[in-house]
Amino acid sequence: MDRLGKGIGVAVTLLLLAALPPSGAAGDKDDTGFEKMPPPKPGEWLYVHKEPGQTFEQYKRECSNRKTKERNVIYIQPLGDVFETKTKLIRTLREYLSIFFDSKARILKPIPLPKRAFHPKRRFGWDQYDATYLLRVLKTGIPDDALAVAGITDQDLFYEDMNFVFGLGSFGTRVGVYSVHRYSATYPNQPKDCTLLKRTLKVANHEIGHILGLAHCIHYKCTMNGSNSLPESDSRPIHLCPLCLKKLQWNLGFDPIERDKKLRDFYTRIGQTGDANFLTRQITRLQNKSSR
Ligand SMILES: [Zn+2]
Ligand SMILES: [Zn+2]
Repeated sequence: MDRLGKGIGVAVTLLLLAALPPSGAAGDKDDTGFEKMPPPKPGEWLYVHKEPGQTFEQYKRECSNRKTKERNVIYIQPLGDVFETKTKLIRTLREYLSIFFDSKARILKPIPLPKRAFHPKRRFGWDQYDATYLLRVLKTGIPDDALAVAGITDQDLFYEDMNFVFGLGSFGTRVGVYSVHRYSATYPNQPKDCTLLKRTLKVANHEIGHILGLAHCIHYKCTMNGSNSLPESDSRPIHLCPLCLKKLQWNLGFDPIERDKKLRDFYTRIGQTGDANFLTRQITRLQNKSSR
């Protein structure tokens, strides 16, 4: 099958060669601008799940979902009435995903949440939906040209015997699902400045990263870090670290500087100035490296 991503300039390739797993002490920074992953504290994802990480070579070997001319669209599938209540959010998400994954992105016609996925008053005293069953439903309707189908719902999700999940992305099947339920201001114990939009963008780029074969990142603070709780997921950045960016660039074939510029402009438009400024520094760093 014909791969996209050919014809990327040599300079771009060289830029990304620097994106090896970091060495040196954890918790500090190297010249990438990303913080290395500190040792996990009790309760955090890596404390509970002893994950080995994924090198670039492993990613190349294991990735079974690459962008091609025939398969190059990211679909958002609203489940239930989430599109009616959060139209603007989902439209903004569509624009974001098209930039983040340098691909066409479309919103599918909403479909009802299947009754068979429904578990009334399962835990916490409220209703939840089985994410595994939702993935099965999404898989049956997957368009031929889908690089990924991301289901989105405002209902709470669970997976197997876990209490809840923010989202679930499947490596092999091109589908994922995530919930904005715990991100909304109506959920208990939310900070006043609850950033529903930013959290939605983060969970979506993380889950679609999984669909594209990215494993959890254990090297840097990165959007591909696992998380056990809302404070933990809030503390991870929205950006891909250099290693995860290198994997995605290999898969999708974008120019990282051009992509960073579009992402910076997007973050500026939605008022995420800190993230926009971070990317401005990244762009300068990448430009300096490529001109050496
Ligand atoms: Zn994950
Ligand atoms: Zn990473």
